[in-house]
Parts: sequence; structure tokens; C-alpha cells
Amino acid sequence: VSADYERVQVLDKGFVGLVDYQATDLSVVNSARVSFGKRHEEMEEGDDKLVEFLLRENHGTPFEHNSMTFHVKCPIFVAREWVRHRIGSFNEISMRYTEIIPEFYIPEDKNVRTRVGKPGAYTYVPMELFTAKHFRKVLEAEGEQAARNYKSAMEQGIAPEQARMFLPVNTYTEFYWTINARSLMNFLTLRTAPTAQWEIQQYATCVEGLWSGIMPVSHGAWVKHQKKES
Ligand SMILES: Cc1cc2nc3c(=O)[nH]c(=O)nc-3n(C[C@H](O)[C@H](O)[C@H](O)COP(=O)(O)OP(=O)(O)OC[C@H]3O[C@@H](n4cnc5c(N)ncnc54)[C@H](O)[C@@H]3O)c2cc1C
Repeated sequence: VSADYERVQVLDKGFVGLVDYQATDLSVVNSARVSFGKRHEEMEEGDDKLVEFLLRENHGTPFEHNSMTFHVKCPIFVAREWVRHRIGSFNEISMRYTEIIPEFYIPEDKNVRTRVGKPGAYTYVPMELFTAKHFRKVLEAEGEQAARNYKSAMEQGIAPEQARMFLPVNTYTEFYWTINARSLMNFLTLRTAPTAQWEIQQYATCVEGLWSGIMPVSHGAWVKHQKKES
């Protein structure tokens, strides 16, 4: 348990932090070996290969005997994609009970994109600079106006649960997310893939980095067999 967990910055104002975890590669090995009444005290020679075998052959359950809790601050539109991952637990800041100080995601010039290609095979490339700059300027102005309307509505006595209707989907939200490695790998396969929206890819890559620090063998096997190349 880490009380002052590191928060790795993502996008302009977001972060991911690993709040708490009970997760080791050894638990993967031991939960598989219990089938044969065996247990190791620490990772031994050949255990890396066992982890890789389990992953490659889709023996998913040994990757479920662990738990990781992440603290995430991200734009609402990223959170909407995130909560589609049902195998995990979420608790999010309540904009019914809390009057927030709204913060808005504004992409950098180079991350303002245009879509090219056909349905089913779209790719995204940087928008030309003039339009990108204009887009960002309007987005910033809209955020400022939204924050003013939100605050003013509450000053007039409107409940926060309705005042929040002024806040757009690039408003930052925060949540705790608790997940096991099996479900985490499914999330990472889908959300680090080049087909995922760039913004959630940034978060997924950050989650991947934190996970690789505590389950390096499982991470290596996942990279080899399930990670989609960009
Ligand atoms: C690039 C991309 C584009 C997307 N576009 C859209 C879109 O246009 N519209 C949209 O609605 N969603 C979209 N999604 C969301 C997607 O459909 C999934 O909801 C999301 O990726 C979660 O994946 P999951 O179900 O595998 O994960 P989880 O919900 O975490 O489930 C993990 C696994 O558990 C099993 N499982 C969970 N629930 C059930 C169940 N009820 N029945 C059987 N097995 C279950 C499955 O094996 C599943 O893979 C998109 C996702 C991606 C990555």
C-alpha cells in the first residue's frame, strides 16, 4: 500500500496513479501449479515459460488472483470509453454532491486530427495548423463559458446535478478503478491498439507501464502474444 502514490501525468491536466495492489507473477504460477498440488516460494527457472504458456493458450484464470487499484483523472469522453470495460470496479467523483472547479482537456496543436479513409479503415492525421489553432481557441472559449454558466446556475440556486448540464465531454472527471490482470490485459489489448482513440491510448500506455513494474513476466508475455502493434 502506498499512501503517497505517484501520479503520472497524462494529457494536459490528467493523471494515472497506482493507489494499491496485491499482484505478483508468482501468484499466476502458483494458481496454475495448484492443479498438481505444487507451490513455489519464489519465481524459479521455467516459471517465465509457464506464464507465457498460460497466456498463449488462453488459460486466463491464473491471471485473476490479484488486484490493482488505479486513480485516474481523465476527460469525460475518455471515462465513457473506459467504463465500457465491465470486468472491474469503478467509483467516480459525484457531480451531484460536489461542486467541481471545472477543468477542460484542450489538445495540443499537433494532436488536433482529421479523419481520412473509409468506414472500417479510418486513420487520423494531424489537421493543418491554421484550423487546428482555431479549433483549440474555440474549445478554450467554450470551456470558459461553460464554467461561467455552471457557476452562475448554482449561484442562482440550481442544484449541482442540473448545473452540470453545462459541462462538456472534455471536462475532467476522476475515478478509482480496481481490476485483475486478466481483465487488465483485455483492456490494454483493446486500448493500446492503434485503432483506439489516441487520448485513451495515452492512458492505457500509462496503465501498462505501471502494471509492467509489478508483474513484469506477465507483461512480457502479454506484449509478445496479445499486444497489437502500432
Ligand atoms: C476501438 C474500439 C471501438 C469501439 N466502438 C464502440 C462503439 O462504436 N459502440 C459501442 O457501444 N462500443 C464500442 N466499443 C466498446 C466495446 O464494444 C466494448 O464494450 C469494450 O471494448 C469493452 O470490452 P470487453 O467487453 O471485452 O471488456 P469487459 O466488459 O471488461 O469484458 C471482458 C470480457 O468478459 C467477457 N464478458 C463480459 N461481459 C460479458 C457478457 N455480458 N457476456 C459474455 N461475455 C462477457 C468477454 O469475454 C469480455 O471480452 C469500442 C471499443 C474499442 C476498443
